[in-house]
Amino acid sequence: TAQVIDGRKIAAALREVVAEERDTTRACGGRFGLTTISIGENAAASAYLRRIERTAEQLRVPHRSVRLDGSSPAEEVLAAIRELNGDESVSGILVLRPLPSHLDEAKVFAALDPVKDVEAVHPENAGLLALGTPRYIPSTAAAVYHVLDSWLADMGEEPSAFYRGSRIVVVGRSNNVGKPAVSLAYAKQSAVTSVDEWASVGGRLGAHTRRGDVLIVAAGVPGLIRAEHVRAGAVVIDVGINIVEGEGGTPCIVGDVALEEVVGRARAITPVPGGVGPVTDVWLIRNTVLAARYAMGAR
Ligand code: NAD
Repeated sequence: TAQVIDGRKIAAALREVVAEERDTTRACGGRFGLTTISIGENAAASAYLRRIERTAEQLRVPHRSVRLDGSSPAEEVLAAIRELNGDESVSGILVLRPLPSHLDEAKVFAALDPVKDVEAVHPENAGLLALGTPRYIPSTAAAVYHVLDSWLADMGEEPSAFYRGSRIVVVGRSNNVGKPAVSLAYAKQSAVTSVDEWASVGGRLGAHTRRGDVLIVAAGVPGLIRAEHVRAGAVVIDVGINIVEGEGGTPCIVGDVALEEVVGRARAITPVPGGVGPVTDVWLIRNTVLAARYAMGAR
């Protein structure tokens, strides 16, 4: 049976690294702070915001939350971003998704100061990532590979040898998770397959996913990946975070992978909760500290 990778342990070790980076940055005169902007109410976004608050507090990195009404006109949102762009105590800005439908995501993201855009959603940062020369690696995709690298280190395997020429299959193609995970796979000289929901509609999901030595799943569909979708001995990274109803209507968090089935087929697998999520949170704070270093260079 597969090894279940302990993301919380990996996150704890990464926190130590980020704490050192934080201290060095501060000692060198860097100013860091994260500001999140929430527009309207969304259960998944609020849950993410609570995780960010907790991680920022653990790492003693200042965090402020700006909450705008769900009906705020674009001009008000852009004005809030411009104010934060000019605020030297703010090194990183994160706009929580999803945005209300009356707002144009592309316009909102393009208004961010690229140096403060710690999730790399501004076209300049997305472009740098696609070219293989990222300014920031978006936290979820970064967490996926950090988890893989940590596991490989535990196994005593050399990451570059493992990745080179092996096939990475990414299920889900969003700008924030799937595409960055694909860009990073290119940089590792892996063969890459990227699928979206049309593979499922066409009944060909398994034909694609079974080719993966590494299977990264970010679709947002509970239980999408079953044993039949997985190559024997593959490493499965479950990015999905879905809130489903448990017994008596209790809200429960599950991933996109049917762990109890896949565990009998994979070599290693990340659980949900306790897999990629905790590492994602620490990486966002890491980027916030890195942003302060970039800001110093820009002065
Ligand atoms: P999204 O809805 O923006 O994109 C989902 C992608 O999956 C799309 O490309 C879609 O075509 C594809 N997809 C949907 N159904 C599919 C199917 N049946 N078969 C194949 N592909 C399918 O979602 P997102 O923002 O990329 O997030 C994906 C999941 O990851 C969600 O569950 C989200 O909550 C989770 N997430 C987790 C973290 C973390 O830190 N672990 C961070 C961000 C998002």
